[in-house]
Amino acid sequence: MSINNRPFTTTVLGTPRVGPNRELKRAIEGYWAGRVSAADLAETAASLRRDTWTQLAAAGFDSIPVNTFSYYDQVLDTAVMLDALPARVSGIADPLDRYFAAARGNAEVTPLEMTKWFDTNYHYLVPEIGPDTTFTLKPEKILAEVAQAHGLGITARPVVVGPITFLTLAKAVDGAAAPITRIDDVLPAYFELLDRLVDAGADWVQFDEPSLVTDAVNGLPELAEAVYGRLSAVTRRPALLVATYFGDPGAALGALARTDVEGIAVDLVEGDVAAVAAVPELANKLVVAGVVDGRNIWRTDLDKALGTLGTLLGSTGSLAVSTSCSTLHVPYSLEPETALDDNLRGWLAFAAEKYTEVATLSHALRDGRESQAAAFEASSAALATRATDPRLRVETVRTRLAAVTDADVTRGEASARLDRQQEKLGLPALPTTTIGSYPQTSAIRVARAALRKGDIDDAAYVEKMRAEIAEVIALQEKIGLDVLVHGEPERNDMVQYFAEQLDGFFATANGWVQSYGTRCVRPPILFGDVVRPNAMTVDWITYAQSLTGKPVKGMLTGPVTILAWSFVRNDQPLADSANQIALAIRDETVDLEKAGVGIIQVDEPALRELLPLRDADKPAYLAWAVKAFRLSTSGVADQTQIHTHLCYSEFGEVIGAIAALDADVTSIEAARSKMEVLDDLNAVGFANGVGPGVYDIHSPRVPGTAEIAESLAAALKAVDPRRLWVNPDCGLKTRGTDEVVASLTNLVEATEQVRATL
Ligand code: GLN
Ligand code: ZN
Repeated sequence: MSINNRPFTTTVLGTPRVGPNRELKRAIEGYWAGRVSAADLAETAASLRRDTWTQLAAAGFDSIPVNTFSYYDQVLDTAVMLDALPARVSGIADPLDRYFAAARGNAEVTPLEMTKWFDTNYHYLVPEIGPDTTFTLKPEKILAEVAQAHGLGITARPVVVGPITFLTLAKAVDGAAAPITRIDDVLPAYFELLDRLVDAGADWVQFDEPSLVTDAVNGLPELAEAVYGRLSAVTRRPALLVATYFGDPGAALGALARTDVEGIAVDLVEGDVAAVAAVPELANKLVVAGVVDGRNIWRTDLDKALGTLGTLLGSTGSLAVSTSCSTLHVPYSLEPETALDDNLRGWLAFAAEKYTEVATLSHALRDGRESQAAAFEASSAALATRATDPRLRVETVRTRLAAVTDADVTRGEASARLDRQQEKLGLPALPTTTIGSYPQTSAIRVARAALRKGDIDDAAYVEKMRAEIAEVIALQEKIGLDVLVHGEPERNDMVQYFAEQLDGFFATANGWVQSYGTRCVRPPILFGDVVRPNAMTVDWITYAQSLTGKPVKGMLTGPVTILAWSFVRNDQPLADSANQIALAIRDETVDLEKAGVGIIQVDEPALRELLPLRDADKPAYLAWAVKAFRLSTSGVADQTQIHTHLCYSEFGEVIGAIAALDADVTSIEAARSKMEVLDDLNAVGFANGVGPGVYDIHSPRVPGTAEIAESLAAALKAVDPRRLWVNPDCGLKTRGTDEVVASLTNLVEATEQVRATL
């Protein structure tokens, strides 16, 4: 069979899959709960795929990605395709149950670890490669989706995670060598896949290789050349498109171009078009030019994009127009966003609008700009309003930022601060506290829904939340904690709560994006300069403080985390946006202090998430991120104690930055890394207070007193008692009240035992 590797012109690298109204989420959760049969789930999935493909075909796309659908995650799907799931799930006979066990665990089995997909907010499941892991092709899913597409007359381009990215994202277990050393073992499965895809009638296949824009392992360009040299040497195969995205592939681009792959996708939103134009070997390749931003929600400047495409016209074999990466990371459509004003609407493009942009650019490239004149005029008219909208430039904010000096990001000497705080707070050694949230009870959810529907008014809602706060305060007093929190019942989400109260942000009505599995988030859109019209948390915290003689911690989200979990402006450096948010948070800390709050926590769990993919870019990021945090927290007096909290990550690369935040107390996820984080902090000279999480709140398990006491004893080997705090490793909102009471009671008891030995 001969392959038809005729180049295509118009495509997208991938699409959202949860459904325009989160239909897939509902079907999968229904399946887990036993309410939806496997057949009905399959039916929902098939119709969502069909709808997406027909939408793309109707937009004029001549190559349509398939197998970008997933019941949970495309990296897990790849592990299944390679038959490389860990042994602990292999006994589960039903393939769907086995899949979900690997994804989320069950009573017997712990799931795969989950971590961030590059620098996005999507999380993938980390494949485990042990010494005995073997790779055997199981192509059922991909072949079924190709067959479904062909049945509908769709020109399908199957997509899989490529071998280099698969192995660099995997982790070695049971003493195995680094997964990337297994490349020779994994390739035969990919060779066989190519053969099977020819049988299935696929003309093109897309191998996703975003790892090629990182410095994840040494020698990636050479590896790419060797691996794709071998893959493209397979004689019976579809045409091969290697998709790089999320950044500039650097030397890997030339390396790929020297192989016999037919196509390479490049991200021209993040990457540099001149570098692409300079690779001579691209003269006989299809270049899939990602000129429409696949991961942010801004409308494309069509003239600029057409100019970028024009740069490549002479230097590539052929040129297709595409998004920069999969549109998995943006909501389906602007259509449900009826609360948008016209200006704001004009600046945005969600997935559906991006498909239209891709098609428009593709036509303009071939038939001239005049053939699409109306679309180009509309684009530039909308973008012009962005230059004049007063919300984008609030001079008071800009003047204030321009005047920021070192003194504004510096507090007094840390140990002197601690002395002054201690005079005021009089805390015992090893103070006990929690991270902020308490269980989000059904009463809280019911009240929030009633407020949204208009069944209760604001005053009634506030009454209900106050009742929750009173309960949480009473509970903490009874348990005997030293520093209390209000429990965060009024917060739907730690970022959205602030975004809703700050000018410059817009909260979407239906802008859901998959975060992991069936979990979707609705990131706020930061579009303008940030202004805090009113205090955001003071009433709640002062109410909580009025109920107790113990100190209540104020609770805020830091500027980096607010940015990381929002769609951000693309018309100014991220650092400028961070500093604007920082000023708003700073004003809030000052208001809290004025209201008598002596301890304020500013959470930065996402500090590591925005870390650039290239090593060379990391120091500059860490410098501005640290500065933004310090701008947020340096407006208060030395006797006001600033806490921060970090979680969700390996802190290795950011440990120095954590120390540089200079918070008085840092509570940090450590329950699973067994206190090693304390040695790491010591190694960078950190001498402020630290609360290594003494138990893992991600599990329903109640930790025993002896076990917590042991953790504390271990911590005391690394940290002197004057600096050590005792707390769980994250907020408690996902846990049940009974577990929380039992766990915290043990935490307090263990602390008392250890204090007695000091
Ligand atoms: N204060 C937040 C809470 O307790 C922190 C959440 C987080 O670290 N992600 O819920
Ligand atoms: Zn946390």
